Amino acid sequence: MKVGVLALQGAFIEHVNSLKKLGVEPILIKNIDDLKDLEGLILPGGESTAIGKLLIDLGLLIPIETLIANGLPTYGTCAGMILLAKHLSNDHRKHLATMDITVKRNAYGRQNDSFSTEENFKGIDSKVNMVFIRAPYIESVGPNVEILARVDSNIVAAREKNMLVTSFHPELTSDLKVHKYFLDIIKGAR
Ligand code: GLN
Repeated sequence: MKVGVLALQGAFIEHVNSLKKLGVEPILIKNIDDLKDLEGLILPGGESTAIGKLLIDLGLLIPIETLIANGLPTYGTCAGMILLAKHLSNDHRKHLATMDITVKRNAYGRQNDSFSTEENFKGIDSKVNMVFIRAPYIESVGPNVEILARVDSNIVAAREKNMLVTSFHPELTSDLKVHKYFLDIIKGAR
């Protein structure tokens, strides 16, 4: 299975390690040639403004946007979720803007900007370990978006067709359930 991990900035090695534990040897995406024949793509956490700028500078923004619009299974964690959002409520920027969600950056404020918890996730039969680091959450979703998880009342995971997003970082835990869920989306798209 040919799964790419965008490797410009942020926590991409941790995603590589999670995929390897599930028997997938991923491809690091650093330039346009790396996108060839991809069956799935992970957009990691990090700093969305930095990743967004690098996507433009490296000529990757439009090619990746086109692949996602054409159905490439794509999973965005944290900053990756910000990259996929069509609307950011507290930032004038937009990046790939393919998913019909409104996201608030750094939504947990200072006191509680990093924390972990365990919560239910629709489609996964045991609780998922969720680590949040200066995390965004989803304020509202469009009609075709399925909400998969909430912490308190805030939406922290969702799916729209081929796009999966989480506010939290499963790649920073030993919990492989969300990665497995994403690999199942890829298998379903084959
Ligand atoms: N705060 C970061 C942003 O706005 C996201 C943090 C993360 O990916 N852990 O881009």
